[in-house]
Parts: sequence; C-alpha cells; structure tokens
Amino acid sequence: MTGVIRDVIIIGGGLAGLSAALYLGRSQRDTVLIDSGHSMAVWEPDVQNYLGFPDGISGSSLLEKGRAHVTRYGVDIIQDDIRKISKQDEIFDIQGASAQYRASRLLLATGLTHLPPEIPGVRECLGHSLFFCKDCDAYRVQGKRIVVIGANNEAAEYALAMLAYSPSVSIATNGIDARWDHIHAEWLKVYQMPVRRDRIVHVEHEDGHLRALHFEKEVRLETDAVFTTRGDVYHTGLAQGVGAELDRDGQIKVNDHMRTTVPGLYAAGCVTPANCQMVIAAGQGATAAQAINRDLFEENLRTHSLPVYEDGSRFEVRGSKVGMPTADRRMPNRSEAL
Ligand SMILES: Cc1cc2nc3c(=O)[nH]c(=O)nc-3n(C[C@H](O)[C@H](O)[C@H](O)COP(=O)(O)OP(=O)(O)OC[C@H]3O[C@@H](n4cnc5c(N)ncnc54)[C@H](O)[C@@H]3O)c2cc1C
Repeated sequence: MTGVIRDVIIIGGGLAGLSAALYLGRSQRDTVLIDSGHSMAVWEPDVQNYLGFPDGISGSSLLEKGRAHVTRYGVDIIQDDIRKISKQDEIFDIQGASAQYRASRLLLATGLTHLPPEIPGVRECLGHSLFFCKDCDAYRVQGKRIVVIGANNEAAEYALAMLAYSPSVSIATNGIDARWDHIHAEWLKVYQMPVRRDRIVHVEHEDGHLRALHFEKEVRLETDAVFTTRGDVYHTGLAQGVGAELDRDGQIKVNDHMRTTVPGLYAAGCVTPANCQMVIAAGQGATAAQAINRDLFEENLRTHSLPVYEDGSRFEVRGSKVGMPTADRRMPNRSEAL
C-alpha cells in the first residue's frame, strides 16, 4: 500500500478519540481522526456527570463541541468506516469503506454497544427512562420506582446498590432462570428485594418516559425507570485482526498507558476494561495520547528526526514568545524520510 504516512491515526470519534486528538494536535503531531458517527454519547440527552457543565449538556452537543475544539489544533477529522487494519514494517495500513490510510501509530477508540433487552417499546425509552449505567443515571431517578432487568450476580448487586437512591427497587429476570449465587440470593432475601421471574411483554411509555412494565402473566407494574445489565458488544474486530490480545470479558488488554499488546497500537475508552463513562473515556484518551507522543519523541531521538535548533534572532518574536519554527527548520518527518 502506498500513501502518506501520518504520525497518528485515531479510529473512533467519541469521547476517548476526541480527547486523544486534542492532546495530539496540541503536541504538534500530524493526526487524523476517523469516525463512523455512532458514538454512544448521542443516546444521552442530558449528561449530568461531565465536569464543567453544571446545567447538564446533551451527549450530541458534547461531541459537537469536542470536534470544534479538536479542529482548532489542526487535527483532520474524516468520516469513514474502517474495515480492516494490518501492520507491515512498523506501519499500520488502514482500509476504510471510502479510502486507505497509513500511520506509524494507531489508537483504537471504537467503543462498545450496550444491548437493550428485546422488548417492544424499550428502544424509545433509551436514555430517557431506560439506563445502562448506575453511576451515570441513578442520581436522576432518586425516589422513583425502579426495576433492574437481569438474572445474574451483577443484576443483584445493581439492584441492591440502587437502594441508596430509592426504596422502591425490584428485579425482573424477564423469563430467565436466576443465575445469582447463594450469597447474592441471601442478600436479596435480607433486603426483601422483590423478584419477578416472568417475561416482560411490553413497555408502556409516553415519549420515552416509562409508565409501566407489562408481564406475561397479565401483571402491570408501574415503573419510572429501568436499568438493564443484559450485555455489551465490544468493538474489537480491528484490534483482533492485527493480533491485539483481549481480556476474559472481551475488552482490549491495555497497560496503564493504554498501550496494547501490539507495539504502536493503543486503545482507549469503553473498548478497554474502563468503567464506561464519558469522563473516564476522555481521560483514557488523554493518557493514550501522552503515551503516543512520548513513544514518537523517543523514536525522533533514536532516528535524529526532531526539529533542529535555530537562532532566535532569525525569526519573528511575538510578545515574549519565539515564533513558530519555519518549515525548512524541521528535520524530514518519517513519511518524507521513508
Ligand atoms: C443511553 C446511554 C446513556 C449514557 N449516559 C451517560 C452519562 O450520562 N454519562 C456518562 O458519563 N456516560 C454515559 N453513557 C456512556 C457514554 O456514552 C460512553 O462512556 C462514551 O460514549 C464512551 O466513549 P468512547 O469514545 O469510548 O466510545 P463512543 O463514544 O461510543 O465512540 C466510539 C466511536 O467509534 C466509532 N467507531 C467504531 N468502530 C469504528 C470503525 N470501524 N471505523 C470508524 N469509526 C468507528 C463509532 O462510530 C463511535 O463514534 C451513556 C451511554 C448510553 C448508551
């Protein structure tokens, strides 16, 4: 494959990818962010737990602001769907639906998809009264009638933890045999947690705001909010294609600096074992960017490819700051050198 080799390509333009792009742009790295436009953030109409927005902000606006912010620092944002990546001679070849790309460092910030239960009416409630994340959304449903859908230890703990927010919490296994162990069963008993075991056939709502769950045995349970723990699909296909290891839960294995098991490949956000929240994804993106910048700097030192010294009197001085390096002062970058 031929073409310009960029310093860094980021696949995924959600919170993790945008935050990484911001750091890399400000580190003067030649950075491209490629995104297919399906961030989970758009499902949240009122983000209340992202620092700096005391009145809340919609996930879509947060992404829009993020893109505007990143663009200020020279990062190229491209809409494309990446189908395949491979690595040859330390360079990543990236095959998109619309074009091909090359980079010496690659960050995967491809996220995950939460699977809502397949119950008629549920999808309309996503982000309004159907939630996946206790840490994001429990605060907003205080004192309401809450049902946790699930049948395993995680669901039992979810429901028990929700008691801090409301006394009216119950579990619906939705027709699945409960799989929680005896300790969790004991806790549910101690806290007298109601458990409904029949299938939910229909969700009654008004404009996405839940009114009731209808069960198979013709029970109508008035409900204000549902939390579900059904499962997540991690978008790891690209990572696996290039040999990156996954952990037992199917997330991309990373170290503390977000380096994967493949040299030059990094991952950040919900596709890793992060607690999947916006501010954490953004923090991981920044961490990955710093590791990438450091690794590129070390490569620059090894290959003598840093910009060279220039006498300050020879170029424009603005205020107390020396002007930007002139183009001819830079040592050839990797793509030019190869
Ligand atoms: C209903 C709902 C409500 C939520 N509410 C909150 C909340 O209130 N607070 C909070 O902190 N978190 C909330 N979250 C979680 C939040 O959305 C995630 O934590 C956050 O979006 C994770 O960021 P990310 O960058 O890891 O992934 P994402 O934001 O999902 O971004 C991943 C990006 O990668 C792109 N991508 C994937 N594969 C490819 C490919 N092959 N080629 C190109 N691009 C690709 C996708 O299109 C997407 O844009 C909520 C989630 C949901 C579903």
